[in-house]
Amino acid sequence: MNTPSTVNGNNTTAALRTRIRDVQEAARGVTTMYPRSYILQCIKEDRFPDELWKKLGEFGLLGLSVPEEYGGSGGGVLEITALNEALALAGVPTLFLVVTGLARVPIVRHGTPEQIRKFVTPTCSGETKMCFAITEPNAGTNSFAMSTLATRTDAGGWTLNGQKVFISGARDADHMLVVARTTKASEVKRRTEGMSLFVLDMKTPGIELTQLNIQVETAERQYLVFFDGVELPADALIGEAGKGAKLMFEGLNSERLLAAGAAIGLGDYALSKAVAYSKERKTFGKPIGSYQALQHRMAQAKAQLEAARLMTDNAAERFDAGEDAGAHANMAKLLGSQAAVAAVDAALQTHGGYGFDRDYDIVTLWPMVRLMEIAPINNEMLLNYIGEHVLGLPKSY
Ligand SMILES: Cc1cc2nc3c(=O)[nH]c(=O)nc-3n(C[C@H](O)[C@H](O)[C@H](O)COP(=O)(O)OP(=O)(O)OC[C@H]3O[C@@H](n4cnc5c(N)ncnc54)[C@H](O)[C@@H]3O)c2cc1C
Repeated sequence: MNTPSTVNGNNTTAALRTRIRDVQEAARGVTTMYPRSYILQCIKEDRFPDELWKKLGEFGLLGLSVPEEYGGSGGGVLEITALNEALALAGVPTLFLVVTGLARVPIVRHGTPEQIRKFVTPTCSGETKMCFAITEPNAGTNSFAMSTLATRTDAGGWTLNGQKVFISGARDADHMLVVARTTKASEVKRRTEGMSLFVLDMKTPGIELTQLNIQVETAERQYLVFFDGVELPADALIGEAGKGAKLMFEGLNSERLLAAGAAIGLGDYALSKAVAYSKERKTFGKPIGSYQALQHRMAQAKAQLEAARLMTDNAAERFDAGEDAGAHANMAKLLGSQAAVAAVDAALQTHGGYGFDRDYDIVTLWPMVRLMEIAPINNEMLLNYIGEHVLGLPKSY
């Protein structure tokens, strides 16, 4: 395994920075048309930001990380992470981009050309959307304990039964990438065996959604999803039955980077608001930004954000190069989410009492950045990974 000690300066080449800058400039073209006020209005109206999504498709941004032969715009996780960061930097974070980016990885890497054309190609223009479902009420972080089960039918298809929880954007998605067991956990020798990936058409009979009451300021809401005898065709299975765990982990590493990008962008967005406010607001006759207690807090957060950004770019580059990027992706998400929390916390402190006025839009950022320390994977699991796989310490759970 490549440990972080092998990270070197050559990875952040001028070419890499140009690739990131191109994506970010294109993203700015879209967020200028659809800024934070637009997304806040969509949240208020509880509707999907269709106009923004279509424009991202028109600009070719939704096709990032998908090969051009399948209707994508090429590039890799580096580019789509840069997009996620750029959207968040403008105050327009979208969970859908995280889940779409994640859901497409195993299909592009392990699906048949027909499956890629059917499920992935239409997402590049924004014609269809995908969500991702792994979390279950009784399994939580321990995904291997999931009980959602797909059983083979005589006709060569599958029947799906079970439930998933916290599924972002399930109402607005056309397809869902579901991780299910095809052999029960109690019947496998190793817990990684017997898991499979399926793509569901959300209009299939037997799928029922219940909206959860989640307090995070995004346009995507979360759902409890029930599968009651959902009939799936044979081509719903991605890769080989029972071998889905490895495919899933490839996708999860990219999800960590997408989450890191969103966290870093949102952290920088909050920090820019704090800096602007601290230059204007005066107490004791001086701008509050001149007081070191605040200035250092903001400077510390900025340094953390930049360090996390370097780690994220480096991990994305490794992922795209086909290297084992697990350690780096986990560290990037850990550091990115912590930096974002530090930045929003500094912004709250800087705004004093006004930080808690929703109209200043600072306290509204808090649930989202705090969420990043818990989802898509909690930071404790990332530390467990680093302890066990990078430092070689005994497994603790
Ligand atoms: C807004 C939102 C959006 C989400 N979107 C999606 C989605 O689109 N698709 C999807 O599948 N899921 C989604 N999730 C689910 C999310 O990934 C889970 O909530 C998260 O993985 C944690 O699972 P849990 O909530 O069951 O926590 P639990 O598993 O109950 O864990 C609770 C806490 O215990 C600690 N903990 C647990 N295990 C260990 C351990 N081994 N070592 C140390 N500490 C541990 C951690 O601090 C953790 O935060 C979303 C959640 C939210 C809130």
